[in-house]
Amino acid sequence: MNNEDFIRRDLKHIWHPCTQMKDHESLPLIPIKRGKGVYLYDYEGNSYIDAISSWWVNLFGHSNAYINSKIKEQLEELEHVIFAGFTHEPIVKLSERLVKIAPKNLNKCFFADNGSSAVEVAIKMSFHYHKNRGEIKPYFLSLTNSYHGETLGALAVGDVGLYKDTYKEILIKTLQTPVPKDESIESAKEALKDFEKIVERYRGEISAFIFEPLVQCAGYMHMYHPYFLKEAAKICKKEGIHLIADEIAVGFGRTGEMFACDTAEISPDFMALSKGLTGGYLPLSVVMTTDEVYSAFYCDYLEMKAFLHSHSYTGNPLACTAANAVLDIFEKENVLEKNREKIDYIHQKLQQFKDLPNVKEIRQRGMIAAVELKGYDFKERVNLKIFKYATKNEVLLRPLGNVVYFMPPYVITNSEIDKMMKVAYKACESLL
Ligand SMILES: *Cc1c(COP(=O)(O)O)cnc(C)c1O
Repeated sequence: MNNEDFIRRDLKHIWHPCTQMKDHESLPLIPIKRGKGVYLYDYEGNSYIDAISSWWVNLFGHSNAYINSKIKEQLEELEHVIFAGFTHEPIVKLSERLVKIAPKNLNKCFFADNGSSAVEVAIKMSFHYHKNRGEIKPYFLSLTNSYHGETLGALAVGDVGLYKDTYKEILIKTLQTPVPKDESIESAKEALKDFEKIVERYRGEISAFIFEPLVQCAGYMHMYHPYFLKEAAKICKKEGIHLIADEIAVGFGRTGEMFACDTAEISPDFMALSKGLTGGYLPLSVVMTTDEVYSAFYCDYLEMKAFLHSHSYTGNPLACTAANAVLDIFEKENVLEKNREKIDYIHQKLQQFKDLPNVKEIRQRGMIAAVELKGYDFKERVNLKIFKYATKNEVLLRPLGNVVYFMPPYVITNSEIDKMMKVAYKACESLL
């Protein structure tokens, strides 16, 4: 088999996500045969540094020997079991461990199988909590430029026009308040004024405030100051508005600490996790919440207050085993500590982009770095040009609009960082 052959067979039957399929008339798909560490390999011997962790899911490299071995062991025991009325060891262990490392008071875990579903669970649960207590609060508040997934509920609380606008007629109504416009504390204070206003205007009608703490990843890697969340959290607490922290992209060390909520020093009422949860191996997500929320659903069956939400693959044992292996690695290998050096190194290397006249800004928060370009209209499709240049030079970059970003697996070495940055630099330079 060669690349050509797969491309032809793929395009005959497959519709890819986040893609105008017509692009593939001129842009060849890349069939991947295998992966190892930060590298992906195609059928013709080309390799690619996975600088975006395959859509931000991979933490410890492809085909990680330790995670592989744990999944193989579990496979011989139990691949899956219904999760209503039954339970299993991997999920019990995982829940205990998640509770231990999560921000305080998040004592209960509700599992699903992807990020968008976790967001659906969190918003339904928040609404239902208030309803069970006799209050109807029909609104959800979120930030401008936010992204929470692409199922209808998740789209409705999001605000990236590219994904949302087409469906506006069929989405639930939500409220958006401005995200701080940059990382300064002044912008955070500015945004808090608007936050207070909207909360006051809709007093008693907002179930929850949902946000991506510190970095709006799909929102073009927009970053803001933790002060905003700290103060917004106080306002929400006072007003009886739940906090839903969507840590699907930033959780598990991406921003430097285990969770971005730790940096902001907040403990939300709900925290949604997915992506890095299984180290990029298998689909799994979890919504963690408080005993207080849990107890509002706990009653005799006929009182009809139970949270009746389910997905067929909820709590899949293989996925939970991958997640346990990921937590083993965090514990045994002192990952957050070691990442600090990598974060510094990435910071150093990022500075070179300032020399390019088409660079507007560089940004970094932990293991997420971004280079925003200027002077290009969206029609120029700069992201596609950079993607093409980079793959030709053995790096997988997939810019968001005019923002080239790096979110590599944590196992990346300094020399691989050098190569990733050099190719990105040249790609940006090639546009001049
Ligand atoms: C990716 C993402 C989601 C959606 O997760 P899926 O598994 O792709 O459905 C939700 N929120 C954030 C912040 C994300 O980055």
